[in-house]
Amino acid sequence: MTDNSRENFAYPSILTVALRNAGASLSTIKSFEAYWRALPPGVEKRPCPLCYAQGRQGWLHLTKMNGAATPVRCERCREHFVI
Ligand SMILES: [Zn+2]
Repeated sequence: MTDNSRENFAYPSILTVALRNAGASLSTIKSFEAYWRALPPGVEKRPCPLCYAQGRQGWLHLTKMNGAATPVRCERCREHFVI
């Protein structure tokens, strides 16, 4: 538990892949990435791309541990992502 864990959370490219696989349009993918990047650093909730593509609001709860890839789950659609 150090302040180093509060660094800006980069946009994980796996979410673009997930959106593509879900059939999202390029404009949806671009706007989701812009939305993600606009969120302030240190926020532990991040939007779910699949819910976003459907016009819904789902949240991924980040439990980032020592910078390692961490599985997160959307509380709405239950989709898992390793980011
Ligand atoms: Zn979701």
